[in-house]
Amino acid sequence: MDFLGHQKILILKSRFFELYDTNLINENYDIIIHEALKAIQEVFDAAEVTLYTSEEWDVSWTIVSSTEKKDRIGKTISLMEDVSLACEHKFCRSPIKDDSVHDYMMLALKGKEKEKVDHILAIKIQKKLWDNPIEENSLFDDVGKEVGIFFRNMQKMVDITKDKKKYKQLFKVTEKFHSSMMMEDVLREVIFTLKEVYPSYHYYLLLSHDNNSPMDLPVKDLEYDSENMAAMEAYVTAKLQFENLKEDKNSVIYAPLKGKQGVYGVLQIIVPGVISFPKNEVEFISLLANTAGGALENAQLYQQSKKLVADLQLINEASHQLNSNLRLNEMMTYICERISASFDAKEVGFILFSLENNSTTVLLGSSSFFFEHESRQYIDYFKEKIQIEKDSLFLGDFSMQLEGTQYKSIMAVPMMQTGILKGFAIVMHPDAYHFSFDTFKLLQSLIHHSTLALTNSLLREELEKMVVTDHLTKLYSRSYLDEKIQRSLMEDKEGTFILIDIDDFKLINDTYGHQIGDDIIIQVANIIKDNIRSSDVGSRWGGEELAIYLPKVPLSLGVTIAERLVKKVRENSRPSVTISCGVSYWNKLSEDTYNTLFKRADKALYIAKETGKDKVIIQNTLLVSE
Ligand code: GH3
Ligand code: MG
Ligand code: MG
Repeated sequence: MDFLGHQKILILKSRFFELYDTNLINENYDIIIHEALKAIQEVFDAAEVTLYTSEEWDVSWTIVSSTEKKDRIGKTISLMEDVSLACEHKFCRSPIKDDSVHDYMMLALKGKEKEKVDHILAIKIQKKLWDNPIEENSLFDDVGKEVGIFFRNMQKMVDITKDKKKYKQLFKVTEKFHSSMMMEDVLREVIFTLKEVYPSYHYYLLLSHDNNSPMDLPVKDLEYDSENMAAMEAYVTAKLQFENLKEDKNSVIYAPLKGKQGVYGVLQIIVPGVISFPKNEVEFISLLANTAGGALENAQLYQQSKKLVADLQLINEASHQLNSNLRLNEMMTYICERISASFDAKEVGFILFSLENNSTTVLLGSSSFFFEHESRQYIDYFKEKIQIEKDSLFLGDFSMQLEGTQYKSIMAVPMMQTGILKGFAIVMHPDAYHFSFDTFKLLQSLIHHSTLALTNSLLREELEKMVVTDHLTKLYSRSYLDEKIQRSLMEDKEGTFILIDIDDFKLINDTYGHQIGDDIIIQVANIIKDNIRSSDVGSRWGGEELAIYLPKVPLSLGVTIAERLVKKVRENSRPSVTISCGVSYWNKLSEDTYNTLFKRADKALYIAKETGKDKVIIQNTLLVSE
C-alpha cells in the first residue's frame, strides 16, 4: 500500500473515531451506520456505498443502509454471485453489468462472534481511479479490517447501552412491584416493561384458570394440551424453555413466573424473524420473570391473608350469632343471608332429612326458590348423592350432570352431627364455575361450625312443641289451651269455647278394647283438626274429653262448628261413635273469667248428656248464676 493509501486509512479511522459518540448511539444507531458509509464514500471517492446483512437461515440479503439506495433500505435482494467469493477472500472486485465505468468492491464483514460473515459492504468505485490491483488489494484488506472493527465496536456499544436501559427498567419495575399488593398491577407492569424494552417482540402471560385478570392484558389460559408442551414444561419444572418455530421464523421463550413457594404462571415471549432466541436477552427475561414471580407471590400471599382474615371473621361472627339463643327461623335467616352475601350466591337452602320416611323438609330462612316446585330436581339429586357418599359436592357445571338446569355452580355440604346425617346445605349460582375452591372450603367449615347449634335449636323447638302437644292426638295440651284462653280474655273482644265428650265411651272400650278406644279418640281429634283454622286451639282436655277454643269467634259461628263436628263424627268414625258438645261464649260485656267460661260449657255438656247425647247444647247464663 502506498503513502496515499495509508493516508486514506488514517482519515477513515479518524472519521470513524468521531462517530464513537455514545449520545448518538442512544438516539439512533442507524444514523451512525449511515454516517460511517458516508465517510467511506468520501474517503474513497466512491459513487455509492451500501451495507447488506444476511439473515441466518437463508441466502437473501437485506439493505441495512446506503448512501444512495435510501428508498430500498430494509428490502431484501438477491445479491451478486461474488458474495461467496468475497466471503472466501474477505473482499473481491465485481464488475457491474451494463456499466463500463464502475465496479463494485465487495467487503465481507464478520459478526460479533467472528464466526460467520453477516454483513457485506458494497463500494461502487470508478474503474479508472482504481486500476492497480496489488495496491488496491492491500488497501481494501485494511479497509475491511477497519470497518469490521468499527462495526463490532459499535455493536458492543449498542449492546451496552441497551443493557443499561434494560436494567434501569428492571430496577424501576422492581421498585413498582414492591409498592403494589395487587396481582393485576404486577402483571400490568411486566407487560409495560416488555413493551418498553422489546417493542418488536410479542408476549403473553399464561396463567392458570382461576385467575380473573383484566381484559386489556395479553393473558392466555395455561392449558395442558399438546400445543402448549413447552409452556407446561416451564410451569412444571420452573425452568426456562425454548421453542424455535422454523417454518414461522419465530423463536419463543417460556419464562416461569417463579416465586419462593411456586410458579404463578408463564411468560411467553415470541421473537419474530429469528431462528434461535437471542442469547443476551435470556438473562434479562429470566430476571424479569423471577422478579415478577416474587412480586406475584407477595401479592397473592397478601390477598390470601386478607381473605383468611375475612373468612375467620365470618366464621367467628356466625358462631357468635348461633350461640346467642336465636330462634331457629332467625338463625336460619341469618346464616342464609351471610352465605349469600359472602359467597355471592344466588340461592341458599338448608334441607333436613326426616327419619320416618325418606322425605325432606326445607328449613324456613332458605331462599324462596327452595319452596318452589322447580327446586325438587336439585334437592332430590343432591339428597341421593349425599345420602350415599356422605361427603360434600362441588360442581362447576351442573348442566353436565343434568341437562338444561338453571343453576350451574353448586356446592352441597352435609350436616353431620355425631356421625348422623341430618341434612345438607346447598348453595347455587346460575353461572358455571362461579365459586372458587376456597369458597367451597369456607362453606364446609361454616356448615361444620353451625350444625351443632342448628340441631340444638331444632331439638329445642321440637321439645317446646312436645310440651304443648298431646302425645296421642297431636292436639294441643290442656296447659297450652288454658294459656291461650287466658291471653285471649285479655287481648280479644270475644271468643267461643266448645267442650266435647265422646258418648258412651266406656262401652266402646268394653266392646272393642282400649286400643280401638284410643284410635277412636285419634279419629275424633283428626276430625276436629280438619274443621278448625290454625288460629283456633283444638286440645285434649283429658281422657276422652276434648276442647276447642275459638278466639275472636262469635257464638253463632262457634255453634255451627260444634254442630258440624257432631255430624261429622257420627258419620265418619269407625266403629261409629257420637259426641256431645257444650258451648260457652264471652265478650267484653259478659265480664267472664276462665272459670265461668268453662263452667258454663261444662254445664251445657252435662245437659247434652242428660238429654240424649249426640248433640250441641249452648250455654245458659242463668244456669251458671243460680
Ligand atoms: P258418657 O256418654 O256419659 O260420657 O259415657 P261414657 O262411657 O263415655 O262415660 P265417661 O265419660 O264417664 O267415661 C269415660 C271413659 O273413657 C272412662 C275411661 O275408661 C275411658 N277413657 C278415658 N281416657 C281414655 C283413653 O285415653 N283411652 C281409652 N281407650 N279410654 C279412655
Ligand atoms: Mg267423659
Ligand atoms: Mg264420655
